Amino acid sequence: MTKLTTNDYMAKEDKFGAHNYHPLPVVLAKGEGVYVWDVEGKKYLDFLAAYSAVNQGHCHPRITKALVDQANLLALTSRAFYNDVLGEWEEYMTKLFGYDKMLPMNSGAEADETALKLIRKWAYKIKGVPPGKAKIVVCDGNFHGRTITIISMSSDPDAYNDYGPYTPGFVNIAYNNLEQLEKELQDPNVAGFLVEPIQAEAGVYVPEDGYLKKAAALCKKYKVLFVADEVQTGLARTGRMLACDHEGVRPDILILGKAISGGMYPVSCVLADNEIMLTILPGEHGSTYGGNPIAGKVAMAAIDVILDENLIENSNRMGKIFRKEMRAIDSEMIELVRGKGLLNAVVIKPTNGKTAWDVCLALKENGLIAKPTHEHIIRFTPPLVITEEQLMEAVEIIKKTLREFEM
Ligand code: PLP
Repeated sequence: MTKLTTNDYMAKEDKFGAHNYHPLPVVLAKGEGVYVWDVEGKKYLDFLAAYSAVNQGHCHPRITKALVDQANLLALTSRAFYNDVLGEWEEYMTKLFGYDKMLPMNSGAEADETALKLIRKWAYKIKGVPPGKAKIVVCDGNFHGRTITIISMSSDPDAYNDYGPYTPGFVNIAYNNLEQLEKELQDPNVAGFLVEPIQAEAGVYVPEDGYLKKAAALCKKYKVLFVADEVQTGLARTGRMLACDHEGVRPDILILGKAISGGMYPVSCVLADNEIMLTILPGEHGSTYGGNPIAGKVAMAAIDVILDENLIENSNRMGKIFRKEMRAIDSEMIELVRGKGLLNAVVIKPTNGKTAWDVCLALKENGLIAKPTHEHIIRFTPPLVITEEQLMEAVEIIKKTLREFEM
């Protein structure tokens, strides 16, 4: 059989797959730690880490073992029956994050949808909002996934165009704006404020210090649930277990996904206390795969890795070094560097017709893969297991690449 090339694989996807992504032209076949290899055998530093799902590094042996061991025992029961892993996983999560209850799902979008349903149920059962009147405040620039309801909250035309009619019940305000938030919270029909502690997909927008704490306090004042989407910012990515931890904020509803499985399996969940979680009764919400035993074992192993390998501390330390190194680069293409922990973005100033996409193509040639977001921003989010030596290898590649654009 003739060996397929990069172009063959890309042509096959192009011909038989939907065109809903615009991938960098690299076909990956293997991963280990911070490195991935393409089908031609070329090695790269992975500076996307599957949009922060692979915080623990590719194919972490402890997570792989948890997956394989459980797959050999029992993979899926559905929630029609109990399984002997789910309770252990729920206990693990609720004790670690300090909530009464956990509700397991699979994707980040499903966990966000679950949170939206919880907010509405709580509005009617506890807060006393008149039937059908509940409102949820969200921020412009948000990214919470791709379902019809979620894109109904979006301010990005690429996300919502031509998908109407949209789900009603959302009020959009500017991100990082407490005045607008307080104005909306005064409406007694507002039940929840859904927010990303850092807007990652939008281009790593870090709000002012104190924003989350003040927003949470305002929510408390007006009896509105403060709901944090930590699908991307959570699980050590920003140098704390949760990005909300930077400000000592405990969300009323916490949404987790992505790195909860270290990239091994689609796992997500929502955490909340009884007053909120028990508003949903048997038969009122669920998912065939949500809470399956593989997900439970994989999630516990993945979070154990974060704790045992001190990934919170490493993310914090490496992030500081990375931003310092990026800010020290003398290139007219670098407009701005921002981020927290290892969730960082470099804003690229298009120069001589060259954009962030061209920079990413050149980085790939030089052995580092990353992806632009919103045209001129490159997000750099390597696995959190990265060593200082590997980080400096990446810094050298970025420097060299930017120098090439000056020639
Ligand atoms: N929420 C946030 C903050 C995200 O960044 C994402 C994905 O990037 C999602 C939700 C959606 O997650 P998923 O793609 O697993 O549905």
